[in-house]
Amino acid sequence: MVVTPGELAVAIVLLAILEGFRRVQSSEIVITRWRSGWRVADSVWAFWFRKIGWLWIAPFHTSPRIFICSQEASGSGPADKAEIEAVKAAVMELNYCVRKLSLVLTIQCASVFLVLPVVAVFGSSLAVYIGILLVCLCAIVIAVLAWPQQEWHALKYALYPPSSLYAVVDSTIDGLKGHDIDLVIVALLPSQTAGEMLRRHYRSRSFGPDSDPTEREAVRSRTLQLISLRGLNPKDIIGNPKPSSPEVLSFCPCCEAEFVIREGECSDCPGVALMAFTARSKV
Ligand SMILES: [Zn+2]
Repeated sequence: MVVTPGELAVAIVLLAILEGFRRVQSSEIVITRWRSGWRVADSVWAFWFRKIGWLWIAPFHTSPRIFICSQEASGSGPADKAEIEAVKAAVMELNYCVRKLSLVLTIQCASVFLVLPVVAVFGSSLAVYIGILLVCLCAIVIAVLAWPQQEWHALKYALYPPSSLYAVVDSTIDGLKGHDIDLVIVALLPSQTAGEMLRRHYRSRSFGPDSDPTEREAVRSRTLQLISLRGLNPKDIIGNPKPSSPEVLSFCPCCEAEFVIREGECSDCPGVALMAFTARSKV
């Protein structure tokens, strides 16, 4: 079987696209940047298939645009402004570190997704081979630039050129993993999303099946500090929910699902007792 230059070009483009899949554990969240804002949602750079636990990342990144953070990374001591500034500084540092890769990645991305397809369709075999050579040369330069920060990745980039399009992603995607997840939320996400995430996290840590009742007050105190640092309304975060209709009588304090019974356990959160809506919480 003879592989034509055109087929080689198609293979490189497809491999570059397939290389973008990353596994995301159920205890992790994906934070992406779109335009100037961070969000916990898909962007043109990343599609998060939550149900099957996979993230697909577009093969062109010249700055940190995607972080995978562990939801289990949570601090318990007092939170202050310096910690939030430390998260922002970590993002800036990552941005600075990958700056030198940007130009080579731009040339390589244009080679893979513009030059190769065009010459494979309209050009000669020689043009395709020159295009592939350009992609391989860029991969080697990226491997040299990434060394020694990414020893294993650098070797992979040199031997398998399509993977080098993800050099920035490889070096930054876990860059905030060690930071307290609540601090990352407060430092990066817009107010509304930060409030929703803080509320969900506060409830799961305070009332979840694995929560420690003795830590509840510490979690509440820390959450209040984070709320204050971000300028949010405490009632929106730690207040009990209001019933969505007169029929519902109770809610799960962990996931806030509503029930038409007054007592019992949440069907989604094993062992978590339902809380009745009080007269005051009626709409
Ligand atoms: Zn529940």
